Amino acid sequence: MSKPDVLIIGGGVIGSAIAYELQREGAQVTLLERTSIASGASGVSAAMLEAQLDAREEGPFTELALASRALFPDLSQQLNEFTGIDIGYEACGILRLATDDAERRLLRDRLEWQQARGLSAEWLEPDVVALRFPALGGRNTGALFYKDDGQVIASRFTTGLAEGARQYGAVIREGIQVTGFKTNGRRVTEVLTDQGAMSAGQVILAAGPWSAGLARRLNFSLPIEPVRGQMLIYKTVERLLPAPVYTSEGYFTPKIDGTLLVGSTAERVGFTCETTPLGIEKLQSFATKRLPILIDIPYAAAVAGLRPGSLPDNLPAIGPVPDWDNVSVAAGHYRNGILLAPITAKLPLLWQVQEKNNVVGILSPVTGNSHGAMGILKSSKKGLSIQEAASKGLGVSARAAGWTLSHARFGRLPAVKVVSSLKNDPSQKMVQYYVQAGDDLFLIQCVAPASEWNAYSGLFATMIRTFQFSN
Ligand SMILES: Cc1cc2nc3c(=O)[nH]c(=O)nc-3n(C[C@H](O)[C@H](O)[C@H](O)COP(=O)(O)OP(=O)(O)OC[C@H]3O[C@@H](n4cnc5c(N)ncnc54)[C@H](O)[C@@H]3O)c2cc1C
Repeated sequence: MSKPDVLIIGGGVIGSAIAYELQREGAQVTLLERTSIASGASGVSAAMLEAQLDAREEGPFTELALASRALFPDLSQQLNEFTGIDIGYEACGILRLATDDAERRLLRDRLEWQQARGLSAEWLEPDVVALRFPALGGRNTGALFYKDDGQVIASRFTTGLAEGARQYGAVIREGIQVTGFKTNGRRVTEVLTDQGAMSAGQVILAAGPWSAGLARRLNFSLPIEPVRGQMLIYKTVERLLPAPVYTSEGYFTPKIDGTLLVGSTAERVGFTCETTPLGIEKLQSFATKRLPILIDIPYAAAVAGLRPGSLPDNLPAIGPVPDWDNVSVAAGHYRNGILLAPITAKLPLLWQVQEKNNVVGILSPVTGNSHGAMGILKSSKKGLSIQEAASKGLGVSARAAGWTLSHARFGRLPAVKVVSSLKNDPSQKMVQYYVQAGDDLFLIQCVAPASEWNAYSGLFATMIRTFQFSN
């Protein structure tokens, strides 16, 4: 069997998105899926693109989510033209309903910082909510309408990505389970499956909540665990809501295929993925209270999926694994895997592990233009403090003008952040993080147009989590 450049484990939205991007960029990809594409959370998800809805504060995660949301219009068109699959993309906005005065205050605060950040969000008083969402019932104390958020249909999006990858030439194999690895030093030489061994250049673990088990087989720890979500599916003759509606008790997502999803529970019950009478009852009670017309409509199906919850903060782990030369992870996206799939898939582009110069991973520009370059370099100079390393510009070939040093933190790791502009091109910004992880010192650097920096800083924050897990 010929050796694929990249072997991806997991045919959910994350594995499929990476397969699509890498194959399109010229890598030879093989994706292995234990059952069928979109058989996990990626097939039952509510698939809201809730970059602002979920943004509780400014920060890298919000920037990552916004950058990913911005990729959907083009991606949706590409997949439609290329595969004929309509992923159900709608830039229809999402309504976040306040149900008491405390929530009203919370949402008004959120409106303030989001508007200050330049994001569009509109405050609707209760009478306006009633006018624009007439089917809604129960008390409301106003709502925030995030007009730039949207939604897709999860199963169509995931199968569209896998089909796109296949049409570009990727090998998509369903019904094959990865059972272990054969290794030599710092490399995985073979991926073992229930149908024999396969060799690969790069291996990417994208198996949702099952990624933790695969990581254990490679002797590193990935704190990802399943969080069950149950949902009800209604089929309505007419669309009852113009856009998804989210409340602290549950949510509705009306889709273009005529289904209305009602979600959802969040239960830590291991890998049990069944609906329960209690879960269904809770969802039904919420649904009929907030959308009274549903009292007369029976639900068509009850479904459940396992979100890949990531401890302790539910941020995903994306990036190369330091102790391995050819293994990377893209998992733990918890409630945001559909939203974050496009930007996650940009990461491993041109992701080459270079064994010389202690470079443990090179990532391509996120935006695909010619400006950026992002890298992770690992220092062999043990004992050097991060401040010393930062002030010496360790590992940086392009000397920059106007260094600014500031302290930063990536998760629990101490870091120093250096921001500068490039001497020969002041429109470019260079940002470097010197990160101390155990005995090792990492430099993560990025050169990007100043205008695009926000998206890159979000990626840094998630990449560093992989180091955190491995140290
Ligand atoms: C009820 C619910 C509502 C949600 N709503 C939203 C939302 O509104 N917006 C949003 O962005 N996200 C939402 N999510 C979250 C989102 O669905 C997940 O984050 C995302 O689907 C995770 O994708 P994944 O590819 O990492 O994992 P999965 O979809 O779980 O895919 C992993 C795949 O790996 C395969 N696999 C496992 N082990 C092996 C092995 N050993 N060998 C081969 N294959 C293997 C599995 O069979 C599975 O198909 C929701 C999730 C749920 C459950």
